[in-house]
Amino acid sequence: MSEKLFDRVALIGIGLIGSSLARVLRRDSPETAIVACARRAETLAAVRRLEIADETTDDPAIAVAGADLVVIATPLSAYAEVGRRFVPALRADAIVTDVGSVKEAVIRELGPLLPASVHFVPGHPVAGTEHSGPEAGFAELFHDRWCILTPPPGTSPAAVAKVTQLWESAGMRVTAMAADHHDKVLAMTSHLPHLIAYTIVGTATDLADDLRSEVIAFSAGGFRDFTRIAASDPVMWRDIFLANREAVLEILQRFSEDLTALQRAIRRGEADRLEALFAQTRAIRRSIIEAKQA
Ligand code: NAP
Repeated sequence: MSEKLFDRVALIGIGLIGSSLARVLRRDSPETAIVACARRAETLAAVRRLEIADETTDDPAIAVAGADLVVIATPLSAYAEVGRRFVPALRADAIVTDVGSVKEAVIRELGPLLPASVHFVPGHPVAGTEHSGPEAGFAELFHDRWCILTPPPGTSPAAVAKVTQLWESAGMRVTAMAADHHDKVLAMTSHLPHLIAYTIVGTATDLADDLRSEVIAFSAGGFRDFTRIAASDPVMWRDIFLANREAVLEILQRFSEDLTALQRAIRRGEADRLEALFAQTRAIRRSIIEAKQA
């Protein structure tokens, strides 16, 4: 960050994403005061040990007092509660943003709580790992990834520009889109893959003991990659599927139809059909590599 974008940033939730952003601010904007808010004393003690915030508190209202930027980085199910607690303490001209993986539900829940003078710029840095908590964060997490902002119509362009600059300084490419569009795209690119991983690992868990131990021993055949995804935070993913229920169910319906078609092709021995599909999917992988998102 070449100039100081914000004087005081309140991070409500300081796990993987919140602490990674704190590290970016520490590195690039040492003049910015950082206040970290979490529920548990252990989390706040870890934040102090890691020296990634100037102040720590378990009270969202104390955290946001005087802050020109508030970043909500808790699981989605905590938004309404933390919002209710911090709204009365917000600075009149504060910018409130978030990092949640679902956007329509966030706008629906938080939007009505915020005073008209506060600028609300919902966001989603599309970057992560399967790890949680402040120890898991690192400043390079966001590098070369996309950040999607979903400002509701009428949001101050200056506020959107400042949040854009924040994520750009973290190394992200920033784009804006409508919240419902974001939720459909992410249902396909992130939520469905996680659901499939949870299902596959769940199926393996249900196998008979001897088969299960062999699945683990020979996991390099493909299963291992699913286990990494299925190790993602249970609370965060519970919240994502419930908050993005409709988009996920719609994409899941299409996926089940395609799976059934593939099942039939295998049963009927339709070699050409299988090969054609796999050739097409290999091309998708190449385009992801070319887009530097591999
Ligand atoms: P995380 O590592 O589990 O951290 C969550 C943080 O929220 C913790 O500091 C936790 O504090 C705090 N928290 C939970 N409930 C709270 C409450 N009621 N009041 C105050 N603080 C509370 O989670 P994360 O992976 O950073 O994810 C945070 C958000 O980012 C989620 O909304 C998720 O959808 C989004 N996101 C995640 C990823 C990813 O890959 N992880 C990627 C993009 C976006 P305690 O430790 O005290 O409970």
